[in-house]
Amino acid sequence: MRVLVTGGTGYIGSHTAVELIKRGNEVIIADNLSNSQENVIDKIKEITGVKPKFYLTELTNREETEKLFKENKFDAVIHFAGLKAVGESCLKPLMYYNNNLTSSIILAETMAKYGCKKLIFSSSATVYGEPERVPIKEDFPLSTTNPYGTTKLMIERIYTDLVKADPEWNVTLLRYFNPIGAHDSGLIGEKPNGIPNNLMPYIVKVAAGELYQLSVFGNDYPTHDGTGVRDYIHVTDLALGHVAALEKVAESGVHVYNLGTGTGYSVLDIVKAFEKVNGVKVPYVITNRRPGDIPECVADPTKAYEELGWKTVYGLEEMCRSSWHFLEKMREN
Ligand code: NAD
Ligand code: UDP
Repeated sequence: MRVLVTGGTGYIGSHTAVELIKRGNEVIIADNLSNSQENVIDKIKEITGVKPKFYLTELTNREETEKLFKENKFDAVIHFAGLKAVGESCLKPLMYYNNNLTSSIILAETMAKYGCKKLIFSSSATVYGEPERVPIKEDFPLSTTNPYGTTKLMIERIYTDLVKADPEWNVTLLRYFNPIGAHDSGLIGEKPNGIPNNLMPYIVKVAAGELYQLSVFGNDYPTHDGTGVRDYIHVTDLALGHVAALEKVAESGVHVYNLGTGTGYSVLDIVKAFEKVNGVKVPYVITNRRPGDIPECVADPTKAYEELGWKTVYGLEEMCRSSWHFLEKMREN
């Protein structure tokens, strides 16, 4: 298939591009490089032997988006492009609503205009708000606690309404849990700008001596050691979830899947595993809870297994090892 990957130089998009190419798909990447670098295209070539065509595209711009479709006939679009920092979204809500909603609407309008109606969208477990229990199933109630999450939920609703209005559309909403890790080659991975917000990139910087210590946000949650529990998923497993959705979801309609492992680890589980696997120290201090955090967020991935034949294969050790390996490779260059 010829697949447009928006946000394809970013963290999850680049790993997905690799897996798509490995399965024989033609990948075209569009990104405005607001949170990624163009040299990722060369890294993808180094891994796969194929250099995907790259467009520097601002997806909130209709003409730039249309150019992609004028010059290529796509079988499907995987839409990763978007802003994703929760804290920043609270400080700059209009920027988040404008970027994430406008790009998603213009993209779908352009797809309709050019007769491409197969779309896979990057949603997030954040749309479950504060779940009453775990593991979380796809039919749990939806709510959000910050503007970033609200953009995801709004886009899910917009695309769902689109399918209602035009049943020819085939839309898959993939709700990711906590992606971490990097490609086995160490050539692509997560490169946050500035001080990271998320746990794994923060741990990596502490272990590397670039940051002094990790703040563990609370140890009084109702979890096995009091620290927050999440469902961490290796980014390559997540990428393969997109390949499965692309290949298996044949019927039109809206299809929703959790992409997680079904296993929860606490902050301290991650710290200990990271130290052990990589032979490094991660000094930490317990601090107050981070506002908006929930105690536990773990997927029930049964639906994705049953309908897409997809399940995760990487364990926590590989997630920790590959995160560190990526940093070591970056230091070499
Ligand atoms: P990322 O920032 O690495 O990648 C997103 C890419 O989109 C970046 O390369 C950025 O330059 C590009 N982009 C942003 N706005 C754009 C625009 N208007 N036009 C063109 N390109 C634009 O993020 P990621 O971690 O790879 O996330 C990919 C998607 O998955 C995002 O939609 C994110 O919200 C979603 N998601 C991520 C996580 C996570 O923890 N990483 C969890 C759940 C959902
Ligand atoms: N966390 C932490 N210190 C940090 C960053 C995160 O203790 O510097 C905790 C956070 O409270 C949560 C877990 O790590 O329990 C995962 O947080 P992250 O921001 O990576 O993802 P989230 O699940 O919040 O999207």
